[in-house]
Amino acid sequence: MASCDHNCNSCNSKCDGSIKYFSLNEQSHIKHIIGVVSGKGGVGKSATTSLLALAFKNNGYKVGILDADITGPSIPKGFGVKGGISGNDSLMFPQVSKNGIKMVSINLLLEHEDDPVLWRGPVVGGAIKQFYEDVLWEDLDYLFIDMPPGTGDVALTIFQSIPIDGVVIVSTPQDLVQMIVGKAVKMANMMNINTLGIIENMSYIKCPNCDTIIEPFGASKILDIANHFNIKPLIKMPIDPNLAKLIDEGNICEYDTSYLNDLVKELDKDVSHKIRLKKIN
Ligand code: ADP
Repeated sequence: MASCDHNCNSCNSKCDGSIKYFSLNEQSHIKHIIGVVSGKGGVGKSATTSLLALAFKNNGYKVGILDADITGPSIPKGFGVKGGISGNDSLMFPQVSKNGIKMVSINLLLEHEDDPVLWRGPVVGGAIKQFYEDVLWEDLDYLFIDMPPGTGDVALTIFQSIPIDGVVIVSTPQDLVQMIVGKAVKMANMMNINTLGIIENMSYIKCPNCDTIIEPFGASKILDIANHFNIKPLIKMPIDPNLAKLIDEGNICEYDTSYLNDLVKELDKDVSHKIRLKKIN
């Protein structure tokens, strides 16, 4: 299902042909889509989405971000991207960051960036449909979707309607309780979407004077949780005041993502491999 190309003749999935994905416009082609999810807000899901997009971009991929987190549509701010979304009769043009990452976000449609989004689920779902179908993404290697936190109806709509190749789960040590991560894993499983693994954000902080590692939220639990749910532990990311500062200033493009290079390789391999497996089966 996750890699459905709507060609029922070449597919032996048990679906009854009723899966109807949003259809991308003909001028755009997106090779891979990764959703970034979390059990709850505030764990750094948007920051992680931005960092993953940036790291993929820095490794030479063509990258876009669809910010679907209406509870805190903050992605453009971190990239210093402002203004509305323009377009022609049929398509919308994404905003583009200084270093060439294309992005759309509900925040770009608000008159003031601190306006609350008081839209109900179906309206948000409609906006996300447009963000996928009607945006001139052109050729992208990777589209990252910053998912709304939790397992609500907007997340469900996205899982059902956008051909996501896999999800990355973001959590923090204190938040890594089985129940919260378990909900995200189970939702992905129920929707037949691959879980690519778990990232532990705010895992530790390095003392700037002596390089001592401090674990302010307690010892890492990423391995236990990954074992329990049979998912891959991807990386432990530190609390980095410089990251927070660059996001606040709209300069995340300047952040050094080289420590994520191995993760980029691993995710790229897994996404491509899983897609190959699906096509062979
Ligand atoms: P979420 O999307 O899960 O609600 P955000 O990505 O908006 O969370 O992060 C919440 C706040 O924490 C933001 O101000 C962000 O800049 C900051 N933050 C997130 N991850 C880190 C990190 N690893 N180091 C420092 N600050 C971080």
